[in-house]
Amino acid sequence: MSYNLIKSIHEQLMREISSPRVFPYSYGTCGSLLCSLMIPVFGTQALTYIQNDLGQMELNVDEGSIPDLQNYLDHFNDPLLSEVSSAVFNFINEEYLGILKNFFHEEVWHIDSALSTVLEGKEEFCDSILLFVYSLPVFPVSNTMREFLVDFHVFENDETYVEIQSILNEFFNETPKCQRHYLAWKQVESLPQEKREEVLARLESAIPFTCDGCGKDIKGLKAPYIGRIEIYPSRNLRFKEEDEFASKEEFEEEMGNLYEMTRSKPEKELTKEIWTEYRLFLCADCRATFISRIEGGEFI
Ligand SMILES: [Zn+2]
Repeated sequence: MSYNLIKSIHEQLMREISSPRVFPYSYGTCGSLLCSLMIPVFGTQALTYIQNDLGQMELNVDEGSIPDLQNYLDHFNDPLLSEVSSAVFNFINEEYLGILKNFFHEEVWHIDSALSTVLEGKEEFCDSILLFVYSLPVFPVSNTMREFLVDFHVFENDETYVEIQSILNEFFNETPKCQRHYLAWKQVESLPQEKREEVLARLESAIPFTCDGCGKDIKGLKAPYIGRIEIYPSRNLRFKEEDEFASKEEFEEEMGNLYEMTRSKPEKELTKEIWTEYRLFLCADCRATFISRIEGGEFI
């Protein structure tokens, strides 16, 4: 199952990165915002920049000024960083009249959905803001991380950002641990290429890759069989009241709760309670057995 695989990769990664860099909270809300915008670009090197530079800047680290922050980010001369930070600062200017404090204290899911639109196609930055500014247990997924997880058979190429993230979120669902773990992953990404490849090669040899059916080692196989199973309620879900609930009132209450939950929570939060996904890695023999069982209706 992919959780086990993520767990093995993560454990091995934590061995490689014995002391992940930790975000310096002494730099307050502005530090968190800078960190959330810079880490997707510079990896954990961003923390060194922030630590070295913020102390010397005439910045009020709790409130800051948007032009100062934008100038600071512009001086890195990185087109992606400038593009994203302009979008975020424009958003703050328009929605919060340029008052950072209001942005930091606004209802976070409102910010998430509005920022997702502003940063369309740049989900890693949007989630990085949720993780570092709002301390939410979301795991931003970079392209490098996606490629590396696809290589390790954890995900497939056609999977969307939200699909990948919902599985990683399940795994890293505690804050602030989530920040520390994310930084460990970002630390590997920000290593010079040669060093990173060495780490990844060690990871690959250390991680067992076995058939979920019989336990046989299938690492040598170029293409093991992958079974994907998703269990979710149909859109036309109907309960028979008498089957599930003691009374009509109980039934209505439950339906009301379900409706409230789907209405108030963003998609990313819903998956855990409603959507279940399994992934099985199988050798050829177990694939044949699995298919014949499914076809024979033996799966429950
Ligand atoms: Zn097998």
